[in-house]
Amino acid sequence: MKTIGLLGGMSWESSIEYYRIINQEVKNKLAGLHSAKSLMYSVDFAEIEELQHKADWNELTKQMIIAAKNIENGGADFIVICTNTMHKMADDMQAELKIPIFHIADATAKAIKKAGLKKIGLLGTKFTMEEDFYKGRLIEKHGLEVILPSLEDRNIIHQIIYNELVVGKITSESKEKYLAIINKLKAQGSEGIILGCTEIGLLIKQEDSELAIFDTTIIHAIAAVEYALE
Ligand code: GLU
Repeated sequence: MKTIGLLGGMSWESSIEYYRIINQEVKNKLAGLHSAKSLMYSVDFAEIEELQHKADWNELTKQMIIAAKNIENGGADFIVICTNTMHKMADDMQAELKIPIFHIADATAKAIKKAGLKKIGLLGTKFTMEEDFYKGRLIEKHGLEVILPSLEDRNIIHQIIYNELVVGKITSESKEKYLAIINKLKAQGSEGIILGCTEIGLLIKQEDSELAIFDTTIIHAIAAVEYALE
């Protein structure tokens, strides 16, 4: 079994889900007393969020490289960045590492293609929904058709992530707002929805929608276990 290096804390509300899911999945696969070999480097999200909204991506890249090198030096065989947004610097990080980064968008695209879907609605932070590092990868590398919420709806999604979900605040009002946006994406032709922020799964579950829901936390964590056990 390979050792999974988790780069977490963005936010810890989803990092604990990663830890729970990878161990549960190893238990499902290997049974008995088996659990995942892993280590986690967890950041202070307040520092990260401040730099994100100041758009100081150079400093964030430096910090992510330091964190990833600590994980590498700690003995991990590969890295799982436990957030969609911070994959923005995945290529810069990879260039400084000997071990691979197991990319969240690749794992998610693989699950979508396995389900036979092509037109997909994307929910996430504004960075994830609007910038090419994520949306572009789904389109260019994986041939998916990505449907985005309107600017007004993207603002609502983003605000709820940073004001509520990353601090563990889960409300029925916000759930209704998300479901209304998902319905609009369905009307625009989405065949499924990517929960492209690792905390959205705390608010929206498969049973809440008729559309196929692709929860990136669950997909990424389970795919990481598959890779670890290869
Ligand atoms: N966890 C979130 C994501 O998957 C947002 C927090 C962050 O900015 O990293 O994008």
